[in-house]
Amino acid sequence: MKKKTVLCLMVMLTISAIVNSETHDVNTIFGNAEIVKCPYCGTKKELMNIVSGNTFGAVFWSDNKRKAPMLPQVSPVQKCPHCKKYYFKRKNEHGIGKNTSSERGELTYSEWKKAYNQFMAEKISGKDKADLYFWLIQAYNDYYFRDSNSHAPTKAEYDFFVKITLSFIKNFDWTQVDHPLLKAELYREAGKMQECAKVLNCILYKSLQDFEKDIYNGIKQRMNNNDSKVFKL
Ligand SMILES: [Zn+2]
Repeated sequence: MKKKTVLCLMVMLTISAIVNSETHDVNTIFGNAEIVKCPYCGTKKELMNIVSGNTFGAVFWSDNKRKAPMLPQVSPVQKCPHCKKYYFKRKNEHGIGKNTSSERGELTYSEWKKAYNQFMAEKISGKDKADLYFWLIQAYNDYYFRDSNSHAPTKAEYDFFVKITLSFIKNFDWTQVDHPLLKAELYREAGKMQECAKVLNCILYKSLQDFEKDIYNGIKQRMNNNDSKVFKL
């Protein structure tokens, strides 16, 4: 995942959806596998490498998650098949393989939590930490709301979600964001409706583009209903 796309803003994602919608006849093109190497034991593995894709048919969610069938994404955190430790993909790239690979190295929610514990014990910081919080937020929403309706978070699970969500809000550099809709949305998902309202009140509604107004209204309506669930854009 490109960091700008991941961590930024609904705005950027939605714009890219609009831009890319004109190229939907382009098929996904797979390049030779990207090799990553475990920093703990040296075991290598080959990952899917998309040279060209597009967001045709993509579904966007209010936590910035994009599900694009023509642009599948490789997990930004990989689990070593040998020593079972977790590592950041972007920091452990090791060249290109001889064949293509369909391996995305996706983690289950339970694995994401183990990865979180490992990285926190290793005292990661800065952007790595903010990214990790953000991936956890999306993994939680995947597990409880997106991929299946059969799970309901326990109070302890929701408390954990609130903790990482507030930590993300605190650790992310919002100065680069003009209209922090994502910040308002994450406060809402964490059940902090007053904070959500404060952020919304600081956003100049008439300065928003139409699609941003839709997101703004979607957040506000749910906030007023005390609804903290992630939603489809
Ligand atoms: Zn390993």
